[in-house]
Amino acid sequence: MPQRGARSASGDGMRRIYMDHAATTPVDAEVLKAMRPYFSEKFGNASSLHGFGQEARKALENSRITISGVIGAQPDEMVFTSGGTESDNLAIRGVAMSKGRGHIITSRIEHHAVLHTCQQLEKAGFGVTYLPVDRNGFVSPLDVENAIRKDTILATIMHANNEIGTIEPIGEIGRICRDNGVLFHTDAVQSFGKVPIDVNKMNIDMLSASAHKLYGPKGVGALYVRSGIDIVPQNTGGGHEKGKRSGTENVAGIVGFAKAALLAAEHMEKRASHEKRLRGMLIKGLKEIPNTWLNGHPEKRLPNNVNVCFSGIEGESLIIHMDMKGIAASTGSACSSKSLEPSHVLVAIGLKHKDAHGSLRLSLGKENTMDDVRYVTEAVPGIVENLRKISPFGRS
Ligand SMILES: *Cc1c(COP(=O)(O)O)cnc(C)c1O
Repeated sequence: MPQRGARSASGDGMRRIYMDHAATTPVDAEVLKAMRPYFSEKFGNASSLHGFGQEARKALENSRITISGVIGAQPDEMVFTSGGTESDNLAIRGVAMSKGRGHIITSRIEHHAVLHTCQQLEKAGFGVTYLPVDRNGFVSPLDVENAIRKDTILATIMHANNEIGTIEPIGEIGRICRDNGVLFHTDAVQSFGKVPIDVNKMNIDMLSASAHKLYGPKGVGALYVRSGIDIVPQNTGGGHEKGKRSGTENVAGIVGFAKAALLAAEHMEKRASHEKRLRGMLIKGLKEIPNTWLNGHPEKRLPNNVNVCFSGIEGESLIIHMDMKGIAASTGSACSSKSLEPSHVLVAIGLKHKDAHGSLRLSLGKENTMDDVRYVTEAVPGIVENLRKISPFGRS
């Protein structure tokens, strides 16, 4: 008998709809196909001098060309890592250790990979400014400019927020940083391959990306580091990745990342318009529920992101009831959903703690259909109504 999870909808013929693509995505069939030989006959270590090694090295360098091309970078400016978290850590701590001291500017709505790294550096004596955001989640470029001090070494502001989808004005922020001699890093894990990015036009010095958010495998990512910028490696060892990140390269993962990035770049417009259409239907359908509102900007948001609040309910209960109907969604970021603290992003955009608990994030993917959206907009109103009846917050 196959094991069945307590709330798993699989195996009993129930319809399953995945709308949590901001947490992770399924590996695309073409990506898996591209990766497969690198687990078996092409298993070489990219540092080895023999044919097996050269084969792996060639795959690695071709992947570097593909991935750098998506953001207008040069291949030798890409450092492969174990994912978005490591890329953020390497960028921020790498610059901090290179400079030794100084001040860092970030925002209150960054991913924890950025926030916790900044907090740790703060304990180690660095100055950190956590910029506020407005109601829609926008960081003001003027606030960035005003926060710059003589000793500012780095600004790290995300491109698109993982919870509310807001796309930050990073081109303007990059310009300000460049004019003031401050390095600019952006966490583009949610936007890479979904929204056009040009590291030169946008004055980006460092950029984090991750494969598993765009139909690639988990555990592989990249950090773009503009040529000439000195970062102190956080993994020391054999001097891989031009000394910036030691460790035998995850060749199969990197090949998968490149294939996923190529497909994302090729189909960017098609995927975005498909997701935007579904997004519009979802928002319209969900807003018909009384006391419901959209978080984040209605237009300047990721094409696949919907984040709504239903006042008077617990997001966690909503997720569980949706799961029982076969719908996979999230309350906010997957990383913080185990804690009882409300989302730091929703608090930063000014929501009351009790409202921030009633949030639902639906993140669409290329395989979602209008039928999926219909199913969700038909299922959610009843669940919300029932939860409101039993809510400890009462009806509001
Ligand atoms: C998912 C995510 C990360 C972490 O990436 P991993 O590859 O899962 O470590 C960092 N930043 C943002 C904005 C994310 O959405």
